[in-house]
Amino acid sequence: MRKPSGSAALTRPMARLLGAVLACALASAPACSPGNGSAASRYRDAADRIRDMGLRDEGAIEFLRRITAAGPRLTGSAEAAAAVEIGRRLMLEMGLDRVHLELVTVNRWTRGPKEEARIVGSASLGTVPLAVCALGGSIATPDGGLTAPVVEVGSFEELDRLGPAVSGRIVFFNRPMDRTRLDAFAAYGGAADQRVRGASEAARHGAVAALVRSLTFRVDDHPHTGLMTYAEGVARIPAAAVSTAGADLLSSLLKKEGAVSVHLKMGPRDEGPVPSANVVGEITGTDLPGEIILLGGHLDSWDLGTGAHDDGAGCAVSLEALRLIKALGLRPRRTVRAVLFMDEEFGGTGGRFYARAAERTGERHLAAMESDRGGFLPLGLAGGSDARAARRLGRWLDLVRPLGIDSLGPGGGGVDVGPIVRQGAVPLSVIPDAQAYFDVHHSALDVLSAVGPRELEFQAVILATYAYVLAQEGI
Ligand SMILES: [Zn+2]
Repeated sequence: MRKPSGSAALTRPMARLLGAVLACALASAPACSPGNGSAASRYRDAADRIRDMGLRDEGAIEFLRRITAAGPRLTGSAEAAAAVEIGRRLMLEMGLDRVHLELVTVNRWTRGPKEEARIVGSASLGTVPLAVCALGGSIATPDGGLTAPVVEVGSFEELDRLGPAVSGRIVFFNRPMDRTRLDAFAAYGGAADQRVRGASEAARHGAVAALVRSLTFRVDDHPHTGLMTYAEGVARIPAAAVSTAGADLLSSLLKKEGAVSVHLKMGPRDEGPVPSANVVGEITGTDLPGEIILLGGHLDSWDLGTGAHDDGAGCAVSLEALRLIKALGLRPRRTVRAVLFMDEEFGGTGGRFYARAAERTGERHLAAMESDRGGFLPLGLAGGSDARAARRLGRWLDLVRPLGIDSLGPGGGGVDVGPIVRQGAVPLSVIPDAQAYFDVHHSALDVLSAVGPRELEFQAVILATYAYVLAQEGI
């Protein structure tokens, strides 16, 4: 009989090896090198079992359901405190080791009554309501609200050119996220300065309030909140986000009519410091318990939705990764730890407290795997603080290739693990498809139903696989 030719003749391991070599040849990832297959093959069975159990159980979405059941988890709120207790209970229920809370002092800001805003005195439309929300950290308007003419700007340079002309007015920052940027995070980053610094930049020229176009590609009626900060020594003025549909309407009226005023009323308050906590649980390593593979997300969220993607998802996949390792009876040599961080959104106090807590004495963090990019389908990995670490992480790519992961690029990390990475931990993150992330980010649309259970589980499976292998092999 004639020997069959082509890939059909290959045994399964041979085909895998060939696939790996081809993928290495095609991939731009520096981490890829021939021979990866042999190191990874030792963990093939564990990776297959993790994947099968994860995809069969879809446990991550149940963790997310339990976390979001606490409601919107604004830092320092009663709901955030309830989420801390829920997180602790989830860790105890799955039988993790050393489940405990680590106290964090956070600042509490409250939104107050629902904001009111309307365009007033439009020659063509009269009075039109605007969908707005106070930005996180903003002060209130005077009790009866304020009404002032609006000046639209696209940049801080434009604002500076106008200078005293904006005095007594509301400055309307209307530079959209750049749709030509392929990386949605880069588009967000390119517009976020208006939200973070806009109020103080406007106040330098005597403005009475700042209105900022919501940071989303979508055009709809949902305002998106987020952190703003006041510059030292500059008058504090109220700052609100306006929905993209509202921003487009306001902009078109300004072009058509020249002068339009807006009435804005909101009552947020700074309530000062309150106690809160990071939630910590682990599978203690059998051989090297002081060496830590850290997984985490942030438990706090904004208050308009229930923070399902941002970042209930990161907490859920971290918990699910530990559940998979434990439920399969895998015994990691090093400690695999999940941390549900508090207060990422208002400045990352949880991450800073974690890194310098007394509990860290005698611990060495090898890897820090933060998930805070939404619960969407993974596209790749990012990590490695240097070329050597990236190469070491890339040795295990074969194990997650069945989940569509072919590359490990630079980056990883995040706000919460930043301090522990600066102490030497190697960052590693799953990079999901974030094109729809900013549709919901920091808005009322960020709820459980916006998260796909299977997409979320893919993240958890990848994290579990990497966490287990790194716990066995180190970096
Ligand atoms: Zn987040």
